[in-house]
Amino acid sequence: MEGMRNEIKTNLEIVRDNIRKACEKVGRDPKEVTICAVSKTKPVEDIEAALEAGQKLFGENYVQEIVAKYEALGGKPEWHMIGHLQRNKVKYIIDKVTLIHSVDSLPLALQIEKEAAKRGIVMPVLLEVNIAGEESKWGFTKEETLGAAREIGALPHIIVAGLMTSAPYTEDAETNRLHFRNLKNLFDEVKTANFSGVDPTVLSMGMTGDYMVAVEEGSTMVRVGTGIFGARNYN
Ligand SMILES: *Cc1c(COP(=O)(O)O)cnc(C)c1O
Repeated sequence: MEGMRNEIKTNLEIVRDNIRKACEKVGRDPKEVTICAVSKTKPVEDIEAALEAGQKLFGENYVQEIVAKYEALGGKPEWHMIGHLQRNKVKYIIDKVTLIHSVDSLPLALQIEKEAAKRGIVMPVLLEVNIAGEESKWGFTKEETLGAAREIGALPHIIVAGLMTSAPYTEDAETNRLHFRNLKNLFDEVKTANFSGVDPTVLSMGMTGDYMVAVEEGSTMVRVGTGIFGARNYN
């Protein structure tokens, strides 16, 4: 138990240091990059260890897990929904998370609009982009993204706060550099378009295997799981 606690603290220090180095390499301020610690499948004790080590923001993929961990830890950590979200489950998390990274369709956005309106809140979301055009991935295509930003931004109880992608799984982070660059360009296009209800400040890209390259290419939020909490066991 104590061993894992120390390991999480050390891992967080390594990730922070790697982000500093990546920023230094390209002349960015490390303060521009936020770590979203991806705690899916990991127990509450691991999240507490990360909290103790100064990590405040956590990302989860599964609705039941957010609900359970929220009940255990309350509003102490800040929670982000990063996984594919089914429309009928929006109501369970909308009052628990401060950002939904994974808005991948207009029907999902309409459901978020409806639930946010019911509660009288404005929900910040990111549009998930399938930047590499992978067959198996959720998200808007590069070509659809600008139109989706305009339509979803127009919904009164949603603010489009940026873009998110999960780059292809790879052993060599360099192979994702072009995808990250493409998403950064798309992010800048969305900014320039200046649609109402669209205020892009968050570019969510980079995971354990490739976050340093993502930061070099302009990421403002990296989603790191394994690199902080160790390998996941899905059993
Ligand atoms: C699991 C997951 C991550 C974290 O992946 P690691 O490789 O463990 O860092 C990041 N983003 C999403 C969407 C995920 O599902």
